Amino acid sequence: MNARHVYVHVPFCARRCSYCDFSIAVRRTVPVAAFLDAVTMEAAHHGAPARPSTLYLGGGTPSRLGGDGLATLVRRLGAEQGIEECTVEANPEDVTRDAVTAWVRAGVNRLSIGAQSFEPRVLAWMHRVHDAAAIGRAVRSARAGGIANLSLDLIFALPDALARDWVRDLAAAIALEPDHISLYGLTVEPHTPLRRWIARGEAAEAADGRYAEEYLTAHERMAAAGFTFYEVSNAARPGKEAVHNAAYWTLAPYLGLGPSAHSFDGTDRWWNEPVYVRWLARVQGRGGAVTGRETPTPDQRRLEHLYLGLRTRSGVLLADAPQALAPKAALWERSGWAALVHGAGGVRLRLTPAGWLRLDELVASV
Ligand code: SF4
Repeated sequence: MNARHVYVHVPFCARRCSYCDFSIAVRRTVPVAAFLDAVTMEAAHHGAPARPSTLYLGGGTPSRLGGDGLATLVRRLGAEQGIEECTVEANPEDVTRDAVTAWVRAGVNRLSIGAQSFEPRVLAWMHRVHDAAAIGRAVRSARAGGIANLSLDLIFALPDALARDWVRDLAAAIALEPDHISLYGLTVEPHTPLRRWIARGEAAEAADGRYAEEYLTAHERMAAAGFTFYEVSNAARPGKEAVHNAAYWTLAPYLGLGPSAHSFDGTDRWWNEPVYVRWLARVQGRGGAVTGRETPTPDQRRLEHLYLGLRTRSGVLLADAPQALAPKAALWERSGWAALVHGAGGVRLRLTPAGWLRLDELVASV
């Protein structure tokens, strides 16, 4: 396969967070050797590039593979060969100096730490396995181990009953001096503990308006601290924008390995069996675990191009967008949801933070 970007879904977690509907495998002891061997077989089966330009280990909790386990995996996938970006998602309690040193030696050069909040009560409600102090320890261990590109994840728009202090959490994250921050607005997904709590009347979604208010507050505070939102959910200091994720937004081919992983070769998309034990059995039996495939129609591709472009700070070139966008663009600009930017390549339409809050609705209206 002609992809320069490789994603690996590492499904293992210590327990399920209250809001999470990802494909995970809760394991007290992680079957590291079996997982590594299966991913290696799957990579060979799909003709993974020997020298990918980016490698992203997401999950689940990739850091649960440990110092040596994770280092072996990224080595096997070619990270040592001079990779542009190799990102590992990590839970704070796994980020020790020894583990980071092993990861960096193997080629890891970017760490994304799932902080989510700095309030003990909120972390307990989320079923996170770390406490607030572990986040600071993880950042210090990552820096000491040689990570020069560090991202923190935060969740906003939590239920009002938690009385979460969003401004204080933003300040705590910024004080740790990360290079990048990703924000996730809480959504209530089916088959999650949170959905069951709401059904039983034990929890309620955030009040209307909280999502927008906290999202805009984040833009304000983070801009003041030197971050630029280069995508609807991602902000970085100059030069620290995520390279791997940008491949998704520009429709570059990528190969996904592991349970539930998706792939795209520039024309077709396909996806893997999501349940870990079934994925493992399929890979061990036939090398791959693809369970679905589709070829987007030209209309779907145009809409996807528009949606992905508007997610980013670059926006879309009006000349490349569906014709129906031009009359909408002027209206969106008058409403404060977008800006028309005249440049050498033509006129680009970029959404503002207020526009990003309405991204789905705006794209659906075109
Ligand atoms: S650690 Fe991440 S993937 Fe695992 S349960 Fe929590 S949110 Fe889901």
